[in-house]
Amino acid sequence: MQKIVETNLRPAKISRRKFLAAGAIGAAAIGVGAYSFASKSDAKGKILIIGGGAAGISAAARLTGKLPKAEITIIDPSDRHFYQPGFTLIASGVYSPDEVYKSQADCIPSGVKWVKDFVVELDPQKKSVKTHNSGSFDYDFLILTPGLECRWDMVEGIDEKSLGQGDAHCIYCHDGAIKTWQGIQKFVKNGGKGIYTDTYTKHKCGGAPKKICLLTEHLARKENRRDALNFSFYTASHELYDVPYFTPRLLEIYKERNIPINILTRIKGIDTSAKKVVMERTVNVNGSDGKDTAKKEQFTEDYDFLHFTPPMTAPKFVIDSGLSKTSGAHGAEGWVDVDKYTLVHKKYPNIISFGDVSALPTSKTSAAIRKQTPVAVENLVCLMEGRAPEAKYDGYAACPIVTDYGHVLLCEFDYDKKEKISFPFNMLFDMSKEQYAAWLLKVYALKPMYFYGMLKGLA
Ligand SMILES: Cc1cc2nc3c(=O)[nH]c(=O)nc-3n(C[C@H](O)[C@H](O)[C@H](O)COP(=O)(O)OP(=O)(O)OC[C@H]3O[C@@H](n4cnc5c(N)ncnc54)[C@H](O)[C@@H]3O)c2cc1C
Repeated sequence: MQKIVETNLRPAKISRRKFLAAGAIGAAAIGVGAYSFASKSDAKGKILIIGGGAAGISAAARLTGKLPKAEITIIDPSDRHFYQPGFTLIASGVYSPDEVYKSQADCIPSGVKWVKDFVVELDPQKKSVKTHNSGSFDYDFLILTPGLECRWDMVEGIDEKSLGQGDAHCIYCHDGAIKTWQGIQKFVKNGGKGIYTDTYTKHKCGGAPKKICLLTEHLARKENRRDALNFSFYTASHELYDVPYFTPRLLEIYKERNIPINILTRIKGIDTSAKKVVMERTVNVNGSDGKDTAKKEQFTEDYDFLHFTPPMTAPKFVIDSGLSKTSGAHGAEGWVDVDKYTLVHKKYPNIISFGDVSALPTSKTSAAIRKQTPVAVENLVCLMEGRAPEAKYDGYAACPIVTDYGHVLLCEFDYDKKEKISFPFNMLFDMSKEQYAAWLLKVYALKPMYFYGMLKGLA
């Protein structure tokens, strides 16, 4: 099976090395440009960053260049810094598990103090945070970027540790992605019924559940095993995808591959010993008064392979801090209530939040964070200098939906769900369709751009 993947990774016309070199030159060009024009500020103050993930480290790297006189501290408990977009490629056998992380110590920018601990309390009025083991820290300005929590506890019958049991899998954590690749190979070999779900809360990379479904289906075809496998996709939403420029082709692909899409359905629990998944769907029932009412129905499906997505919320200390948005469709999930253009908290102007933990009404992806970081940093400098925030974020997010081993539908869009193509060769390709060049970008260029561009404050 590995051979199949390798064959697709080594195209005839462009070698991996050449593509990497071109990518690196491109990334370096972007980076040098961004870096050399960065202006410095004499502003002083204590900046505390909670969470050294994609958002926190990128912000810290840019701030060290901009604010040489500020005192910058990151609080983060992790030894390793994961490139999470690589989890899908681990789960499909394209990347090896060791390829997607670096030691966190190597990611923290020099000049930044790292407190290796996790925050348990945040008091925005006192401008203070409490950690589990290292005491309390106060701040003048806070960058709140602790990401989100996968709420395994909200799916009955399974947790993060028991992933893989009873062939129930999830790629939303590193170990889960590793086990999923084992599970997919077994499923393709033995055949049977595959069930794939997303979830009803806001979740990171909404494309990931769809990608892993399509990759499994393609692998089955490559192995001449497609007839032995059935696939069904369940979405909690009323549609598979909601960016009009890309949705028609994605729906077409699911139809071509004979993968039925079931809408308004969410997972409730899994019986891993019996290999049954309990789900709940919302149906409209026509009443005697002629009006439709939404009714929830529970049902159970047998499966041979399950890929599920857990609900996701902000971390508890964020929800308890009073900084969350509590109204609207996702008001119970605790996302930080920031202005969608400036990324500054609506009540506390010394707090900036972006990335997965924020209530920004766009997709939770590192591609979005790449565009949010310069805005966050620029506006923090404005605030520290006593000026109103000047930079504005337009909601740009990208989600490279891997449609098979060799193609990616590179969805890029803004707050209005309007396509916002930034792919460098877009004049040559129809970006509303899956492209081989976008696969090369996803597999070879985005990871080095992340570690050596974005996390260094250069891209
Ligand atoms: C399977 C999968 C596929 C994905 N695919 C893509 C993709 O193709 N393209 C794309 O752009 N994005 C993708 N993403 C999404 C992307 O990885 C995230 O959007 C991004 O990593 C979020 O960055 P963040 O900094 O907000 O959070 P994270 O990167 O998750 O970092 C949060 C940090 O906060 C720390 N932290 C947590 N709690 C605390 C606490 N209490 N105190 C202190 N520190 C704390 C954590 O240790 C962590 O280091 C994918 C994600 C997954 C899981």
